[in-house]
Amino acid sequence: MKEEKKNLSRRDFLKTGSVAAGALAVVGASTFYLDKNAAKSMPREDFLRPPGAIDEEDFLYGCIKCGLCVQICPINAIELAGAGEGLGFGTPYIAPRVQACDFSCDALQCVETCPTAVLDFRPFKEEGVRAVEKAAAVPGADLSAVNPFEVQKVAMKEAVRMGKAYVNRNTCLAHKKEGFKGNPRGNGFEGVLRSPNSKAASASPLNERVYDREVCDLCIIECPIGEKAIVQKRSRSGKKLIPHVLDGCTGCGVCQMVCPTAEPSIVVEPL
Ligand code: SF4
Ligand code: SF4
Ligand code: SF4
Repeated sequence: MKEEKKNLSRRDFLKTGSVAAGALAVVGASTFYLDKNAAKSMPREDFLRPPGAIDEEDFLYGCIKCGLCVQICPINAIELAGAGEGLGFGTPYIAPRVQACDFSCDALQCVETCPTAVLDFRPFKEEGVRAVEKAAAVPGADLSAVNPFEVQKVAMKEAVRMGKAYVNRNTCLAHKKEGFKGNPRGNGFEGVLRSPNSKAASASPLNERVYDREVCDLCIIECPIGEKAIVQKRSRSGKKLIPHVLDGCTGCGVCQMVCPTAEPSIVVEPL
């Protein structure tokens, strides 16, 4: 059983099907008439919204709790908030320590499928188109070698801004000049991951992997965005090699999921 399971699981959602969706839609419509200020009581810090989420207050009122984003995600990264979450009941969020978004859908499918556009695909589409035009405009570019889908998918995932990761220097193994050997989350962990350089078509269980790093850098090597988001750098004293998060961080939470310390030493804060 997944840890921190305070939500409706994907299986539960599918079981309850259209009846639940209808009921939730009614709840969503009813809440429209409630005082908008009540939405501010939402514990936002616990709710990392899926990619492309609009402003939180508008999201709460615009999301119809249909659960399509939950169903489409190939790695079950999206959960629906439980009944204790007030106006947030039935809205989608990602709990990265349980299952981060590793972008292994390759196309921001949750965003594409959202029928109300509270997960807004337009900026990503524009970013993808711009990237293809840029690649084609390079002088002497071999246009037959430019794969628009590949160019677009990289540009779209790099444009995601769900949150930003922060390192806890007190617990991070690299800050303590320690390495890491073994399976980062233990055999019972159910999360999956497709590593950045993997040629595999889909993600595989994290509990099947064994790492052996002289200085811990799991958050760096598994980041789906790579050196635009997180790099290894020398500490001011020059004595340590430590993770350093950059502005290109998407907030996907893969670093938080793979970090091997008991409490994650790198945590995403929603933007
Ligand atoms: S972008 Fe992430 S959360 Fe959305 S469907 Fe793809 S893998 Fe799932
Ligand atoms: S994975 Fe965790 S412990 Fe290892 S370097 Fe990154 S933040 Fe530090
Ligand atoms: S540092 Fe990388 S893995 Fe961590 S949240 Fe940012 S983009 Fe995701």
